[in-house]
Amino acid sequence: MSKKIAILTSGGDSQGMNAAVVAAVKSSWAKGHKPYLVYEGYKGLIENKIVEAKPELINGMISRGGTFLGSARLPEFAELKVRQKAVKVLEKIGIDSLIVIGGDGSYMGAAKLAEMGINTVGLPGTIDNDIASTDWTIGFDTSLGVVVDSIDKIRDTSESHRRAMVIEVMGRYCGDLAIYGALSTGAEILSVPESKLSEEQIIKKVNELKDSKRSLMIVVTEHMYDVNKLAKKIQEKTGVESRAHVLGYTQRGGIPTPKDRILASLLAEEAVNRIEKNEKGICLGMIGEEIKSFDILEAVKMKNPDRTDLIKRVRKLI
Ligand code: ADP
Repeated sequence: MSKKIAILTSGGDSQGMNAAVVAAVKSSWAKGHKPYLVYEGYKGLIENKIVEAKPELINGMISRGGTFLGSARLPEFAELKVRQKAVKVLEKIGIDSLIVIGGDGSYMGAAKLAEMGINTVGLPGTIDNDIASTDWTIGFDTSLGVVVDSIDKIRDTSESHRRAMVIEVMGRYCGDLAIYGALSTGAEILSVPESKLSEEQIIKKVNELKDSKRSLMIVVTEHMYDVNKLAKKIQEKTGVESRAHVLGYTQRGGIPTPKDRILASLLAEEAVNRIEKNEKGICLGMIGEEIKSFDILEAVKMKNPDRTDLIKRVRKLI
């Protein structure tokens, strides 16, 4: 039976979300369903910013960063009466299925809509790689590329000036961007939520390394330190000229890498298959080479893989 399938992006944007939207639309058409685009995330659901997908709306979007559907944060979506509004809007159009591309918070919204009878499927869209039900999230690879490129560039100038640089990367409470970023650039010092170094430990390391290195890259995850204060303290205690650099929103931008586009496209195609099977309240992830399905509420509770060993290995490479 032909279905009406709505697609939205929610929460923090990530590169590759557009590729997921495009693939969800195209595979819906290929299977004889009617796809709809929801603009501005859950906010757009309750405000009926929903249009039937047309080729001209998705053309050329696969390679574009950000999300052309827009994303909005709507904390009120946790309230039943706000979600009831969304369900009413969907029912009026005859939409019974929804693909949500977003992070943990968006997954919570999708799980609650599933309880209210909407066939929801969540796809992991976030640069943070903090969704345990997939090895890599949509956007992580592109963002990691930005991190690596930035650290390489900061290294160039730091080498010239014999500087230590505290580089803050995103990740919320997940160290993956910092860990893989440090690994890829040969950063000297790594501190992540999973294995936090005290300021004193960082200063000790700088003191140990300062004579053998012209530049020192100190890669840290956001929300852990006041990086400007930390850089000042390092300079005071070690005599090494030190600066802080917050990579910030550049990490959210840029054209998605092939890896992100492929991941997004394959997951979105499978989402439509699952909707055809009337599966709801699930999310999909890529584990190894295989697409796996999880109960979305279970997935939100899942813990990220233990990175202790990986962090140890990365630190040995310094
Ligand atoms: P992300 O999806 O990137 O983790 P947020 O945590 O901001 O981003 O969540 C995105 C949106 O999902 C929120 O603005 C809100 O509309 C919805 N949401 C978050 N938590 C819940 C919840 N507990 N119940 C219902 N909706 C939620």
